Amino acid sequence: MEPFIRSEQYNFIKLQTQILINGHATANDRDVINTLKTVSKERVLQLFSDITEEQNQLLAPVETIKDPAQAEDYLLQIKPYVIPFKEVTEKTVKKLFPKAKKLKAPLLENIDLRELSYLGWDDGGSGKKFIIVPHHDTFTGLHGTIKPANKKGICAICSRFEEIGMFMSETKGTIQGTFIKKGNYICLDSMKCNQNITTLDKMNDLIARLK
Ligand SMILES: [Zn+2]
Repeated sequence: MEPFIRSEQYNFIKLQTQILINGHATANDRDVINTLKTVSKERVLQLFSDITEEQNQLLAPVETIKDPAQAEDYLLQIKPYVIPFKEVTEKTVKKLFPKAKKLKAPLLENIDLRELSYLGWDDGGSGKKFIIVPHHDTFTGLHGTIKPANKKGICAICSRFEEIGMFMSETKGTIQGTFIKKGNYICLDSMKCNQNITTLDKMNDLIARLK
């Protein structure tokens, strides 16, 4: 079986396992537990529009999860079927950010590529942040300045309450040659953000606003 689960779908499934663990720990009512099991399984299976029998067999046991150890086993079993983030070459970086001279692609040696929905990194000392997101069969790039907000807030990418920064980027205005600055609060820590993402909706909205 080929990898078929996207990183944010894996995070969503992980979240369902946490909901199940909490449910078993707090609810005593058998009906409540049964509903919870059914809903969790449906939510997981509904992530995949044309699921095969084999994929179904891999994912369906989510409903049997009761405790953290079982969740860990289950997540270990499905992890190999998560699609890793595609390799980003220096050439890709140059193509996406032609004006950023000497910009280096971040080193991904110690990063689990299955845990990335997007690649975000700060260009050392310049106060700039670069974001690469898979888009159809290629990549799309966002860049701008990032300034720590020195407080927690809602991230425009993962929707969680995290340490955020103002990501200010320029987009082309409707009149040729004009630019509009747009600011969005996003997680300062892109790795943390990636672990929080359970849907790509907000990221797609952000791209639509900034592209
Ligand atoms: Zn975030």
